[in-house]
Amino acid sequence: SEEPIADLLDRLAAVVPDYPRPGISFKDLTPVFADAEGLKRIVDEVIAPFAGRFDVIAGLEARGFVLAAAGAYAAGTGMVTLRKKGKLPREVHAEDYLLEYGTATLELHRDDIAPGTRVLLLDDVLATGGTVGAAVRLVERAGAEVVGIGVVLELDGLGGRQKLAPHEVHALQRV
Ligand code: AMP
Repeated sequence: SEEPIADLLDRLAAVVPDYPRPGISFKDLTPVFADAEGLKRIVDEVIAPFAGRFDVIAGLEARGFVLAAAGAYAAGTGMVTLRKKGKLPREVHAEDYLLEYGTATLELHRDDIAPGTRVLLLDDVLATGGTVGAAVRLVERAGAEVVGIGVVLELDGLGGRQKLAPHEVHALQRV
């Protein structure tokens, strides 16, 4: 029988203490992406609860791109990139969000998502929800609808899920 997803993630994900700063426990999913079974399982399971309910998948730079591109290919939809400031060459919507120190900006090409589109947002790790919150606002600025948010890992106790309510958040594992 199939290995539970939590066991697969415990086996393959790397946890790096005190990276990038003392006190931060960094969850590194690159070994999951690098594993044939790992990549297939996380992509299939992160999109499964939203099957049939989205028209496009949007990925957050950079690790969200891996999930969004593979998920969109599997689902037969297109994929949209939500990028850090200054990377997209044409007209953008821009949304600022708070970081631990200072702010950052996420951008979306204005014509990459048509009004009324049903959008699934994917990223690797949900922490405070600041980044995904900016992504939700970008999609809504385009006149589109966020039908759900999928992440591989949700860090408990940082309030991300509460911040994103009432949007539906699906995490493969809470840590
Ligand atoms: P936040 O905006 O606080 O929800 O942070 C989410 C973004 O930061 C995601 O794009 C994650 O890739 C990254 N991130 C935050 N905390 C961690 C962590 N402990 N381990 C790995 N990535 C993290």
